[in-house]
Amino acid sequence: MNLILLGPPGAGKGTQAKRLEQTRGLVQLATGDMLRAAVASGSELGREVKAIMESGALVPDAIIIDMIAERIGQPDCQNGFILDGFPRTVPQAEALDAMLAARGRNLDHVILIEVDEDALVDRISGRFTCQNCGASYHDRYKRPRIEGVCDVCGSRDLVHRADDRMEAVKTRFAAYRNQTAPILPYYEDRGILRRVDGMAEIDAVTRQIEAILADRLEGR
Ligand SMILES: [Zn+2]
Repeated sequence: MNLILLGPPGAGKGTQAKRLEQTRGLVQLATGDMLRAAVASGSELGREVKAIMESGALVPDAIIIDMIAERIGQPDCQNGFILDGFPRTVPQAEALDAMLAARGRNLDHVILIEVDEDALVDRISGRFTCQNCGASYHDRYKRPRIEGVCDVCGSRDLVHRADDRMEAVKTRFAAYRNQTAPILPYYEDRGILRRVDGMAEIDAVTRQIEAILADRLEGR
């Protein structure tokens, strides 16, 4: 079972990947971590990567593909893998497919954990915290028992910090869209893009993913 997991920051991608590692014996392959590991290993590939990174250049796709090829050939990846952070362009997706095909492997699913940006911003924008003890509240979901007074410590120093957090969320969403949007049509055309509702509870998201994987196993 070979997967790509896509989703914006805050969609719970890391949590879901961890669960798939435990339940399915899949290995999460984050390309950033793999590059750092290659450099640390001092291998021929690692020295090449180190020189490229030190020059300030982007690591070429071909090297990343080689690195993934080497990694998925190791015994712990025999049950499959979850790619995280790669591919981000159509040429990268094509190169990945070609490399997998040459090894008699393929991608089973590209799972997109969808999160509604407006709803997420709404959740974050209502939050406020006690400056004295750090207790957190929400305009709609968790108001203090006495208006304007912290339940925990009795302080009246409750502060909204919505603006900067909302900006941070919007910036991260924009970066995510730029990185992900180009490859969605590629996988949609191949019939392997599957969407799950990332606004659901963590366990419900896991169940949606499990249903997709079970579907594949039963050959439906
Ligand atoms: Zn407090």
